[in-house]
Amino acid sequence: MPEFCDVAVPMPLDMVFTYRVPPDATPVIGGRVLVPFRQQRTTGIVVELHDRKPSVTTKNILAVLDAAPVLDEQLLQLGRWIADYYLAPIGEVFRTMLPLNAEFKRSISYRLTDEGETALHQAGLSGSSARSRRTPEEQAAEFRVLDYLAASISDEDEPENKSGVPHGSPLLREVGAPADARSLIREESLRSATKVSRSILAGMVRKKWLTREDVSAAQDATRTIKIAVLKSAEDKLNDNQRKLVDTLAASGGKVPVTKLQPLDIPRTTLATLVRRGLVEILEEPAEFTVSRSKPRPSLFDFDLNPAQQSALARVREGVAAHRFSGMLLHGVTGSGKTAVYLAAMRGVLEAGRSAILLVPEIGLTPAVAADLHQIFGDEVAILHSALSDRERAEQWHRIKRGDARMVVGTRSAVFAPVADLALIIVDEEHDSSYKQEETPRYHARDVAVVRAKMANAVVVLGSATPSLESYFNAKKNKYALVELPDRVEQRPLPEVEIIDMRQEFQETGHEQVISRKLAAEIKERLERKEQVMVLLNRRGYSPVVLCRTCGKKLECQNCAIALTHHKREHKMVCHYCGFTAPVPKACVHCGSEYVYFLGTGSEKLEELLHGMFPQARIARLDRDTVRSHEDFERALNALNDGQLDLLVGTQMIAKGHDIHGVTLVGVVGADVALGLPDFRAAERTFQLLTQVAGRAGRGQTPGKVILQTYFQDHYAVQYAARHDFIGFYEKELQFRSWMHYPPYSALANVLVRSDKLDDALQWSGTLGKWFDATRHEGVRVLGPATAPIMRLKRDYRYHFVLKSPSRKNLNATLRAMLAYAAQEKIPRTQVIVDVDALWLM
Ligand SMILES: [Zn+2]
Ligand SMILES: [Zn+2]
Repeated sequence: MPEFCDVAVPMPLDMVFTYRVPPDATPVIGGRVLVPFRQQRTTGIVVELHDRKPSVTTKNILAVLDAAPVLDEQLLQLGRWIADYYLAPIGEVFRTMLPLNAEFKRSISYRLTDEGETALHQAGLSGSSARSRRTPEEQAAEFRVLDYLAASISDEDEPENKSGVPHGSPLLREVGAPADARSLIREESLRSATKVSRSILAGMVRKKWLTREDVSAAQDATRTIKIAVLKSAEDKLNDNQRKLVDTLAASGGKVPVTKLQPLDIPRTTLATLVRRGLVEILEEPAEFTVSRSKPRPSLFDFDLNPAQQSALARVREGVAAHRFSGMLLHGVTGSGKTAVYLAAMRGVLEAGRSAILLVPEIGLTPAVAADLHQIFGDEVAILHSALSDRERAEQWHRIKRGDARMVVGTRSAVFAPVADLALIIVDEEHDSSYKQEETPRYHARDVAVVRAKMANAVVVLGSATPSLESYFNAKKNKYALVELPDRVEQRPLPEVEIIDMRQEFQETGHEQVISRKLAAEIKERLERKEQVMVLLNRRGYSPVVLCRTCGKKLECQNCAIALTHHKREHKMVCHYCGFTAPVPKACVHCGSEYVYFLGTGSEKLEELLHGMFPQARIARLDRDTVRSHEDFERALNALNDGQLDLLVGTQMIAKGHDIHGVTLVGVVGADVALGLPDFRAAERTFQLLTQVAGRAGRGQTPGKVILQTYFQDHYAVQYAARHDFIGFYEKELQFRSWMHYPPYSALANVLVRSDKLDDALQWSGTLGKWFDATRHEGVRVLGPATAPIMRLKRDYRYHFVLKSPSRKNLNATLRAMLAYAAQEKIPRTQVIVDVDALWLM
């Protein structure tokens, strides 16, 4: 075994650290080790084993946590690429790639020994020992630890405690229990209960009163959890019992007990049902108990039209060739891209290989999960944002073991540890939820392409509104461009009518939210029993509160952002940091009572529509009404089942749903973004308008879209109205080319932030002088300037925008800048480098 190993630790540092390998330890490259780091211990990934003695003194690694790599050679290589391309600390990249936080936290536990037991009783009998050199405080601390360990039952299982005896009860204090039957208590639990330092614990381990144990990932895999299983459903149930039985039934009859807790039903209810034999409690290995939705009749019989078939054939060819190839699947809304993805994945599964399907945040509803289970059975692992750390880790192990070869998930699923990867699909590849807006700031679509290259796999990027970058790459033959030009069953795309709201204002004499035309069209649809969606991409009731006396807005305390009035919750909310304030009766600046609530959010729009159409059944879909995927699905199901006439919402309603009864889509204020100082504003607006228009007319009746705008001449609005992606793309490319924006330039946003204005100013000034004084070939630097949102979450923000036709030069400049910032003692966490930034705000 080599004498040293280099370890990437999850800290904001652009380097790895060398540790000495103790004689009995056998770390592996790509495996986890526990190492001392500054005053703490942390888990890191071994990146190299070697015999090169470093010039500084090295510490020993404390424990080897994995006998086999958790990151294989390819994933290590992918991690290095991300660290390099996005200038992200390598240890933080690896931490992001491995969803094993639950295990990291569980790694250190303590157990009482026979000697400890004896010491406890001697202390109890004779008081403090006269021979001891310990202070009374230390002795008291040790006694608390011994007492706690002796009295505790193991907390290695679920938090529920089996005997029903609370921690610390004297009932459990049996003298002379065999050592291995004594409880293993996690360090965090022990320290929070006894308030002792790690050095006290270490001293007690040296005295052999305690043993200190590493609970490794291997032990974790054998953990069991309690499952409630529905045996039979009886009629005579009270409300709580009914709720519980219904929940079980809706989840396919089997749910982990912990999943029932949010139902807010007394614990005795479950016990009663068990006593009556209606529900049984089983213990199962944790990793097998994936809760799952009831299967629906399959929507996908893969009856593909010729365009879908030829797209599928292209994917299959690529997969069969075992060579990298990229494909951009550009299909209009409603053209059946999903069926192509799933058919391609099934082919991969039948060939005994693996596939990953990435979907945007909101795309993974319980119904989609049910469909996936129907098609792929137990071979599918679904990774969505609502999973707990522990569930995520369980899924990771299933994939790593090869039990699940079809992986479906949001952004980080691109790191799934599948073997023999044949295909990665990125659905709605233009969706901004693929970009992680914290370190490491990677874009999952771009990482998917790189991973596919490394694995000689096929990558398919699908969208009705591809990003400029992807379409540009396809046009330059980096990817094959495959079009699905028609909707399934030759359904027509909806007719789009533009309403000029400036003219509406002139003709009616006041500011309208719903134009006369849109109101008339809604009325007509409601009379015909057809359904309507209205999009307003701004939540809350009023987005601005303005004082008429002093002219000031009510702003967030932490951000330079106006607070939004939420009427139902009766408070003012910051949509950036969550800060809330009471609804003002007077101006906070001058005390004037003349405060005005201006503008319209989705909450107010819903109220307006209720007033205009009192008979209609109206619901709202936005982040205030939807707290979970289940809420989201419930609203869509209600629409699908005809229980709703009108659905109001933010961009959430625009995303890929197939509701056949919707024949009219109204768009209110979707062009707000066009007024923002952001070079992607036109692209975003075009995408949103096209996607929401795509919700209309997916059934038998043709659809119509009413698009209200104040920018009726803007090309994003005009091309969206004509369903003309190519026209938009050509026009937008001209703009990007003139302005040296992507895809013609590589771009990075460098943000300097601090909660102290002086620091933010000084640091951005220091970096600005460095940029001025240093020659960086072919890189344009703009700034420092105040960021468009100059204060956010208490931080003052200044930024630089860097552009270069050469990515290599851009990254070299950024790297040199970071090195200079480190030299000037600017904290690494306060300089954010965002390569390929989606937002410059
Ligand atoms: Zn005022
Ligand atoms: Zn705020």
